[in-house]
Amino acid sequence: LSTLDPVELHKICVCVRKRPVSKKEKAKKEIDVITVTSKNVILVHEPKMKVDLTKYLDNQPFRFDYAFDDFASNEEVYRFTAKPLVRTIFERGMATCFAYGQTGSGKTHTMGGNFSGKKQDCSKGIYAFATQDVFLLLEQPRYKDLNLKVSVSFFEIYSGQTSANSNSSRSHAVFQIILRRNDKVYGQFSLIDLAGNERGADTSSADRQTRMEGAEINKSLLALKECIRSLGKNNIYTPFRASKLTLVLRDSFIGENSRTCMIAMISPGLNSCEHTLNTLRYADRVKEL
Ligand code: ADP
Ligand code: MG
Repeated sequence: LSTLDPVELHKICVCVRKRPVSKKEKAKKEIDVITVTSKNVILVHEPKMKVDLTKYLDNQPFRFDYAFDDFASNEEVYRFTAKPLVRTIFERGMATCFAYGQTGSGKTHTMGGNFSGKKQDCSKGIYAFATQDVFLLLEQPRYKDLNLKVSVSFFEIYSGQTSANSNSSRSHAVFQIILRRNDKVYGQFSLIDLAGNERGADTSSADRQTRMEGAEINKSLLALKECIRSLGKNNIYTPFRASKLTLVLRDSFIGENSRTCMIAMISPGLNSCEHTLNTLRYADRVKEL
């Protein structure tokens, strides 16, 4: 049993991915404060101010199902996170995979892929890998006779207000692969690129719209955490009504055969340290049962 993947064993899998130091950060000589020490442990070298005001670094370890360092490819991250969940939707299950983290930490790079740079830097993301695998499984003899129909939808969830200008850091992007049999939903895989979690802290901004959005994002991320935590337990109240995001994903939280994976994305730089610690603490709470 112990040789099985954590994702195979549990309803909830929580992983962390560190993105590489960018060219811009290198130019600014930003210090890398993140070390992946083993396949499931990540260290944050947190700066502390001593009484004599000399800075020293305090190592904070965090343990997850997987910790991916800056060399990991999108394909590798996919293989250990969302890939094991694809089969779930062929067995009348609901699967979800969340990318959580601050703006600029690599959520969209991981989920949607990257097609903007040079050809050798292009990479597919989890949306594409998962879709590919769904079509592969559809062809397998054991599923072929089920006569399943595939559809996908892709939408964004904004706060109650309508935003004047679209900005991916303020909305949750949802990519869903839906399997239907005789016009009824048979299984569904939801892949979510969440709003930047630092936006949820934006509750003291002078701009009312920004404040309201911050409060809404904060509410949805808190509700999400509670909904995921309730997955592993039986007969526990699931607060999916607490936000639009969790309401949309309602069926993914209450089903008997529901499984989820959270990928916490972190930026390596010292300047992001506070947001990084917030991200890791949130992920830590999600995995706790
Ligand atoms: P987010 O969606 O969390 O705001 P992005 O996915 O847009 O962040 O990433 C910010 C920048 O960092 C982008 O230019 C992206 O291409 C780059 N990036 C993120 N993750 C990686 C990675 N693992 N390898 C290389 N570049 C990355
Ligand atoms: Mg993004």
